[in-house]
This record gives sequence, C-alpha cells and structure tokens, in this order.
Amino acid sequence: MTTFDVEAFRQRERSEGFPAYYNGWLHLAASAAVMLGLCAWSLTQLQDVRAWEWGMLPLVALLGNGAVFFIHRDLLHRRRRGARFAYYMHSDVHHKFFTYEHIVCQRVRDLHAVLFPVWVVLLVLGGINLVGWFLLQQLVSANCAWFLMFGSSAYFLTYEVFHTASHLRDDHPLLIFPPFRYMRAHHRLHHAHSRMHSKNFNIIYPLGDILAGTFVREQDS
Ligand SMILES: [Zn+2]
Ligand SMILES: [Zn+2]
Repeated sequence: MTTFDVEAFRQRERSEGFPAYYNGWLHLAASAAVMLGLCAWSLTQLQDVRAWEWGMLPLVALLGNGAVFFIHRDLLHRRRRGARFAYYMHSDVHHKFFTYEHIVCQRVRDLHAVLFPVWVVLLVLGGINLVGWFLLQQLVSANCAWFLMFGSSAYFLTYEVFHTASHLRDDHPLLIFPPFRYMRAHHRLHHAHSRMHSKNFNIIYPLGDILAGTFVREQDS
C-alpha cells in the first residue's frame, strides 16, 4: 500500500482549505444553537400528547439510522452527479484528514473537517421538516409533526456529538461514556482507507450496518 502523508495533507488543508476567519468554537456553537433551538421550539408546541404519539420518537430514531446509513454509503462514498460537494467534503477531505492511524482531531480548528457546515444542517432539517411537518400536520396530528421536528433535530445533534467524540483522543474524559467508546472503535475501522467505501457507515448505533452486512469489528478485521 502506498503511504499517504496525513500530516502534509492536514497542513495544506488548514492553510488552503479552511477559511482564514474559521473558528471551531463558533461553528460548534452555531450548529448546537440551531439544533437545540429547534428541539426547544418543537417541545413548546406539544399539546395534550396521546400515548401513541410518543411512538414518533423511536420511529424517527430508526429512520435516522437508515438515512445516515444510506446517505453515508451511497452519497458520501459514491460519486453522484449533483452531489459532488458531499463526496468531496467527506471522501476527499474528511477521510484524508482522518485515517485509522490518525483518527484524532488535534485542535478545535480541525472541527472544520469534522462538523457539517451550518448551511447543510439548515438545508437537511429544513427539507425534512418543511415536507414532513406539513404532511404529518395534515394527515396524522400536530403533535406528530412537532415530534418529527424534535426527533430529527435531536438525531442530527446526537450524530454530530457521536462523530466528534469518535475523533477525540482515546484518553479524553468524554470517552468514559461507553457508547462513545464503542462507536469510536466502530468509526475508526471505517476510517481505514481499505474499508471506507464498504464498512461501518453508522455513527450513533450500528443497526444499518448489521442489517446490511457491512458491520465489522476490530477482532474480525
Ligand atoms: Zn469520521
Ligand atoms: Zn465515511
């Protein structure tokens, strides 16, 4: 296998790929503000919730797992017309900035290569909720529509938290939480260049990988 110089790529990306004004803390705060804001707003809209309406939450968590699996496998790791930016940012930048051997985010500014841009968060959650909220409101119930907004925002936020935790150093205090440690190991295997297009696409829990046969553990590889 040819050796890829990760450090040289990182230096080049930091100086030429990241905007000079970029601030990782601001990026983190803006993303969290959008998603937590939508969570809080949707919760305040719920009224007289019936027992069955709570079922929207596990349903959204399942749909989110499937969406992440398919988007990651079929859009972020396959060149598609109309989605070249997604492929470039993920396969060409994220996977060269972080490899199996170099999985750790070294500085807050490196979050540029980890977190989705805020405009992508707005586009994804806006797309899901403009269509889904209206349909659920008309066809099912207003509470289900607000649960969709809460669930999709909470899922996206949890995705970003788990993905960021997967790129922390392995003695980071946050990794005392076993699910972070488990999914960090899962994601690290995905970052091996030999597996990135074929294994371990889930980020929060590996249901899609298990069902699709793309699940791999350290001891299997
Ligand atoms: Zn990653
Ligand atoms: Zn990937």
